[in-house]
Amino acid sequence: MPSIVVSRTVSRNVRRLSEVHQPGFCSENIFSIDVEDWYHILQLHHGPCRADWASLPSRVEANFLRLLDLFGDRDIRVTCFFLGWIAKRFPHLVREAISRGHEIASHGHEHRLIFEMTQSEFLNDALYSRCLLEDLSGCPVRGYRAAGFSVIERTPWFFDKLIEASYEYDSSVFPTIRQHGGIRRAAREPHRVVCESGSLTEFPITIVSLYRTPVCLFGGGHLRLFPSWLIRKMARKVNAEGRPVIYYIHPREIDPSHPRLPMPVHRRFKCYVNLRSTEEKIASITNEFTFVTFYEFLNRYRHTLSVHHAPGSRPERLSRATQAGVS
Ligand SMILES: [Zn+2]
Repeated sequence: MPSIVVSRTVSRNVRRLSEVHQPGFCSENIFSIDVEDWYHILQLHHGPCRADWASLPSRVEANFLRLLDLFGDRDIRVTCFFLGWIAKRFPHLVREAISRGHEIASHGHEHRLIFEMTQSEFLNDALYSRCLLEDLSGCPVRGYRAAGFSVIERTPWFFDKLIEASYEYDSSVFPTIRQHGGIRRAAREPHRVVCESGSLTEFPITIVSLYRTPVCLFGGGHLRLFPSWLIRKMARKVNAEGRPVIYYIHPREIDPSHPRLPMPVHRRFKCYVNLRSTEEKIASITNEFTFVTFYEFLNRYRHTLSVHHAPGSRPERLSRATQAGVS
């Protein structure tokens, strides 16, 4: 019934306008794609090793292009964190993303967990993937995301090495506990991180309190598991707290037919639940909210961000008065 549809749309727009004008309300969000294949699931005892990857049938191309179509239909630009290994094998995907106006960022080269690398191994991996992606895209690569969000308190050198590798921002901190890492007491909002080598901007993965439990409803298994209405409700709550919602998706998550890897039952559930409905869920989220890339957000809000020391180095937060001295 058209009249009902119109009145619902008007009412939603009125509500959104009133929210936008609330002081402290954040009206822009960020959608990101971690561009990797179905066999890049971490920490599996019987999963394929790096030497096997090239011999496995790839599905990343079709799935990634479907995601770009979905975002393109809504005129949304996203940030694509390319695994260097994938970019090297499918360089046309990097160029396709660029030609459609999306941002290219790095997901490292070999998809190794941060806490399993030495500092120099990490620096080489981060540097190599940035240079490779810049060569392929012809554009500066400013952002980084660690495999499995595997930055932990034991890896405070992470930010120093990222700055040495010339990154301007990162989106690897998961501010609660999780399987591959997480930093429980890390700041939840985007902020500047100060360390010995200089400073960069951190965009932590979005955590929201649901019945007093910190959860991320905006990526991976949780995005697929929870209903769209709850995700959108929690997203409005995050925006009302003055934070952007940072969503993340992998191309395999819209592909119900991709091969399954052997893994324990609980991980099997998390990796493969609701693959059929993910695309529809992304459509409903992107229909309601406004999105920009990480770099667009950084350019607009860099002077309003609070300043923190790198997690694990000095936990106390700097006062806003010190911001003037930070590059
Ligand atoms: Zn990954």
